Order: sequence, then structure tokens, then C-alpha cells
Amino acid sequence: MTSPAAYDDNNIFAKILRGEIPSHRVYEDEHTIAFMDVMPQAPGHVLVLPKAPSRNLLDADPATLTHAITVVQKVANAVKDVFDADGVFIAQFNEPAAGQTVFHLHFHVIPRHEGVALKPHSGKMEDGAVLAANAEKIRAALG
Ligand code: 5GP
Repeated sequence: MTSPAAYDDNNIFAKILRGEIPSHRVYEDEHTIAFMDVMPQAPGHVLVLPKAPSRNLLDADPATLTHAITVVQKVANAVKDVFDADGVFIAQFNEPAAGQTVFHLHFHVIPRHEGVALKPHSGKMEDGAVLAANAEKIRAALG
């Protein structure tokens, strides 16, 4: 078994966390942020990230995971309400073989509707105005 690669703070989410790249944020607390995925697989696709640097779930501190999953739950309930979804898909990829493309731990929170297929992962860039409008609704639902 090979050891996982070290965390590289040049990844795009580390830049977002440092405020070097903009994002449509919907939630932030001491340990976590959540923002819109720029290539949503469905309207309302949010990413939840612990601020603590870890490459993925495999090297994360258990306490970090515990807090992050409570934020995932909050965001999942909010997007379910806002998008009147039938369900919510939670996804999390570890290492390229599993589909991970950005190497800072994150959870995908994606509203699902019966009979509506997901768009491809890392597919098409969404219009900024659409992301901003969706983020505003989710922020309002989160209070
Ligand atoms: P992963 O494959 O690592 O689980 O997913 C990375 C996700 O990040 C993809 O869904 C992709 O659409 C999204 N993404 C990639 N670059 C950016 C970016 O610059 N900003 C935001 N908000 N999302 C991004």
C-alpha cells in the first residue's frame, strides 16, 4: 500500500479559503465553509469544506469530520427545502481513482428530483448570476 500524497495548499479550495479566489458562499463557521459548486450536477449543488487542511477523508482528523457532517446535514435540509427536492445526494471522493479532482476535503450536497438525471461531475460551468441567486436562497434558508 502506498502512502497518500501530502496536502498541497495550492489547490483551488485552499485559495478560496484564503480569499484569493471568489466563491458563492452559503455558510461559514469557525471550522467549516460551504459554497456553490461552479459546475453543478443539479441546481443547488453545494460543497461543504472543513477549514482544516486535509487532502480528503482518509487523512482528516476525526473531530474535523464530526463537525463537518453536522454542517452537511444542515445544508442538505436547506437545499431540500429551497429546491423542493425529493431527496439529497451526498458524495465525497478520495483520490483520483475514486473521482477526486480537488485535493482539499469536501462533501458534495446535491438536491435530487425523482426521474431527473444528474449532470456530469465537473461538467459545464454555471452562469455566475444563477449561482449567486441560488446561493442567496440557500443562505436565507440557513438563517
Ligand atoms: P471532486 O472531484 O474533487 O470531488 O470535486 C471537485 C468539485 O469542485 C467539482 O464538482 C467541480 O465542479 C468543483 N470545482 C472545481 N473548481 C471549482 C472552483 O473554482 N470553484 C468552485 N466553487 N467549485 C469548483
